[in-house]
Amino acid sequence: MRRTVIAGNWKMNMTPAQTKAFITDLAPMVAGMDKCDIVLCVPYVDIATAVEAAKGTNIKIGAENVHFAESGAYTGEISAAMLCEIGTEYVVIGHSERRQYFGETDETVNLRTKAALKAGLKVILCLGEVKEERLNGITNEVVAMQTKLDLLGISAEEMKNIIIAYEPVWAIGTGLTATPEQADETCGVIRATLAEIYGSEVAESTTIQYGGSMNDANAAELLAKVNVDGGLIGGASLKTDKFTAIVKAAN
Ligand code: PEP
Repeated sequence: MRRTVIAGNWKMNMTPAQTKAFITDLAPMVAGMDKCDIVLCVPYVDIATAVEAAKGTNIKIGAENVHFAESGAYTGEISAAMLCEIGTEYVVIGHSERRQYFGETDETVNLRTKAALKAGLKVILCLGEVKEERLNGITNEVVAMQTKLDLLGISAEEMKNIIIAYEPVWAIGTGLTATPEQADETCGVIRATLAEIYGSEVAESTTIQYGGSMNDANAAELLAKVNVDGGLIGGASLKTDKFTAIVKAAN
């Protein structure tokens, strides 16, 4: 009923030349693995090269952020229209590194999501608890509140173009992974929150990924869980063999 989506988040890695070489290598390795969608979210300057290199393959290309204004005095920012014009299909919004280091809040995440949807982009919306919140037993409340705030004013129809990435902040880039049970339980809380807001049909058809040190060794176990519909992958998306192994596990 809902698509499994394996998405790489390259963060601030790879030049355009490296991007071309990577996708040229990856394309034959994942050819025919069509039981999941395969997305690479890459730095802005790599997008045009990535789109060109991915033509005719089953790899889709995304950005790592987008601004909420259509245009204007926002030095250093990139608009949704700019992304669309160069062939971008997806965009990551609300990644914890944006929230931690660049002052993103649930309010700006909500605004960016609305702007991306309006332009026709598919959104990978990231949320998740920090370590102290998990240790204090308030993970469920935190992710439910983030889900509600980040999706404020977004319609059931628009939810067709939203993927939620549950990313416990303590597991991102740390080598610590949520157990399959923790990932399943918290993705389930997000799904229950979607049911509260939109009803069960939207909740059951929304793709909810897990992200946080997913790799070739742990992907199969995480992806086997009923509420985990794919992965958002940082470090392991920078190696064609590891990323292919994750796509294979999803297939
Ligand atoms: C991420 O960047 O979204 C991520 C999950 O990173 P990593 O896989 O390296 O933990």
